[in-house]
Parts: sequence; structure tokens; C-alpha cells
Amino acid sequence: MPPDSSHAKGYVREEVAKPEMILTTHAVVGGALASLFPANPIVAIAAGFVSHFAIDAIPHWDYPLQSISVAKGRRNHLKWERPIVQDAALIAFDACVGLALAVGLFSAHAPVVVIMLGAIAGMLPDPLQFVHSLHPHEPLATLQRFHWWIHSKRKLDWPIGISSQVIFAAIVVWVTSALRY
Ligand SMILES: [Zn+2]
Repeated sequence: MPPDSSHAKGYVREEVAKPEMILTTHAVVGGALASLFPANPIVAIAAGFVSHFAIDAIPHWDYPLQSISVAKGRRNHLKWERPIVQDAALIAFDACVGLALAVGLFSAHAPVVVIMLGAIAGMLPDPLQFVHSLHPHEPLATLQRFHWWIHSKRKLDWPIGISSQVIFAAIVVWVTSALRY
């Protein structure tokens, strides 16, 4: 295990409190909410952004990253070494799957651009955590504290943690489709 500076500072162990959710879940939920506001991209963005924190509050599983960490007190650096590139590729793949699913599921109900804005807004708080780890200043510092406060400290194991996400996303898709009619 690599040395972890957060241990030295007495922070919560990283495995317990790594503040990441699978981005696909955030994108699908953001897209679902956006589909309720086809004529109102601002509301779609706001709904997606707020939904991120509601989802994070639910205990869940997330995939391990080798190098990038947004754990409390961790600073990232932008050196393009192999582990960072692999992490970035995994995150980009996750985000693309989420966007594709959101567009595929909801573009019949709202313009593609609105769905994409909702989905991106749903994922956005996690990359903002990474930006904060590079530049720990306001207003991101306040957002980061809130993100940490609301994020579930219980990490579920595979596969229960991932089925909880699929079930949760399915419930949101079902409820939003019921709300549209
Ligand atoms: Zn998050």
C-alpha cells in the first residue's frame, strides 16, 4: 500500500471515506431529472447538481483508483504517469458510459443537450473535488466540506454496493417516467 499522508494527519482511512460514486449512476440520475425539465436547462442543471449529493449520502460501492485521490487532505499533482493516465481513462470511460446511457434512456423526452447538461451537472461535483485538491481555495473549499459531510461514510462491498446503485438508478428512472405522464 502506498504511503498515505492522510494517515499521518489522523484523517479517516481512505478506503472508508473515498468520496467517489460511480459516475454512471450520477449521470443517469441527472439525465432522468433533466428529462422532467425539457424546456428549462438551468433547472435541469440545478436538479442534476443537487442530486449528486443526495446520491452520495447513500452507502455504496465505488471502484478503486490507483493514483488519483480526493480523500480529505490529499493533494493531487498533474504528472502524466501511468497510474494517473489509467485512472483518468477509467473515469473518462465511466463518464462516457453514463452520458450514453442518459441520452439513450431519456432523449425521447427532452432535447439531447438538456439531458447531457443534467447528466454532466450530476457528475460535476466529483471532478470539482479533484480541482479542489489541486487548488484548495474558496468557493470549492466550502463545497468540498459539504460534499464530505453529506457523503456516506459506509462503504458497501461488491457486489451489494453495486446492485444498490443499479436498483437506485432504476427506481429514479421509473419514478421520473411516472412523473412525466
Ligand atoms: Zn460525490
